[in-house]
Order: sequence, then C-alpha cells, then structure tokens
Amino acid sequence: MKVNQAEFIISAVGPSQYPEDALPEIALAGRSNVGKSSLINRMINRKNLARTSSQPGKTQTLNYYKINEDLYFVDLPGYGYAKVSKTQREQWGKFIENYLLNREPLKLVMQLIDLRHPPTKDDQAMYQWLRHHDVPVLVVATKADKIPKSRWQKHAKVVRETLGMDQGFHPLLFSSELGLGKDELWELIEKQIGY
Ligand code: GDP
Repeated sequence: MKVNQAEFIISAVGPSQYPEDALPEIALAGRSNVGKSSLINRMINRKNLARTSSQPGKTQTLNYYKINEDLYFVDLPGYGYAKVSKTQREQWGKFIENYLLNREPLKLVMQLIDLRHPPTKDDQAMYQWLRHHDVPVLVVATKADKIPKSRWQKHAKVVRETLGMDQGFHPLLFSSELGLGKDELWELIEKQIGY
C-alpha cells in the first residue's frame, strides 16, 4: 500500500468515540515497550506520528490512526505493566475484551512479541485468548535488529513454540530500525482487508 496520508484521529476511551465510517481496523496488541508505536511509524514512513511511549502502561485508550481512506491502525494499551493496580488491570481487560470481541470493522490483531525474549505469560495468555475467540491474529516479532541474523530462526522457533502456534504458522520478523518485514506486513494487511 502506498501511504499518501496518515493522521492521528482520536484516543478513544469508549465505544461512543470509535469512528463510524466503517473502514477496516487493524489493531496492535503487545506489552508496553514492545515497539507498537515504532512499528506504526515505520509502516507509514513517519518519524513521530505515533508517540513512542515515555510512560509505559499509562495510556488506557485506543489510539486511532487513519491511513489514506483505506484503514485504521488501532494502538491498544500495552498489557503486562506491573505498576498498575489490580482494578486498573481488570478495567483494561473489560475495555479491550469488548473491543476485540464486538468491534465489527476489526479485521486483524497484530500481536507484537519482542524477538529477543521468550513470550511472557501475558503474551501467551493474550495469544491463547485471541485464538480461543477466533479473532484473526498475526504474530509480529519485533526488534529483530537487536540480535544477530544468524539467531533469528532460533528465536522465532522459541516464540512459535512458547505461544503454541499451530504447524505452518510463523511469527513475522520485523525491525522498525531497519524496515525489515514492512513490505511483507503490508501485503498481509492488504490481503486481510481485501484491498
Ligand atoms: P510501545 O510502548 O510498544 O509503543 O513501544 P515503542 O515503539 O515506544 O518502543 C519502545 C522502545 O523500543 C523505544 O525506545 C524504541 O526506540 C525501541 N524500539 C522499538 N522498535 C524497535 C526496533 O525494531 N529496533 C530497535 N533497535 N529498537 C526498537
């Protein structure tokens, strides 16, 4: 996809603020700091449209970015942030669960995992939950540039096995730093939204 225009639309705190134009939505899920903002910025060739987070876990909003007149990227609040209270976590759960289960224009969830480390318990729970509810999910392994290329496949295998991905499914390797994986990711997104 050629990105001609990308703009921040809204930080939505509830369904009444979600856009009503029914464009397809591609959501990004992942732990705080995994590289969601950086991925968005790389996909749209902008340095700073999506804010790279200085305060991980603080934003409890769905951040909508509109790409051309074609789709939205929806940045979900990072999960697995230790410093929020149990009540906040539960609120997070309800809000996001509702979005993921009931949002009609949602076409794909990109679940970001840091390629350097085995997926955490939170990552595993998220992936299993999405699969269980038949939400289309694509695992994107970020920060590939931070480990030598010779170890990419080994790390990808750990991600695949720890998440319990089915045979034939693989994480897509990505680096916001290098632009690695960008074209492949756009192709998958286009296919998913019938572009
Ligand atoms: P978010 O909290 O998931 O939105 O994560 P950010 O996009 O803010 O990234 C967190 C930190 O990781 C920032 O310091 C980024 O510069 C860094 N980062 C994100 N993606 C990459 C990547 O692909 N390669 C490298 N080397 N650093 C990255």
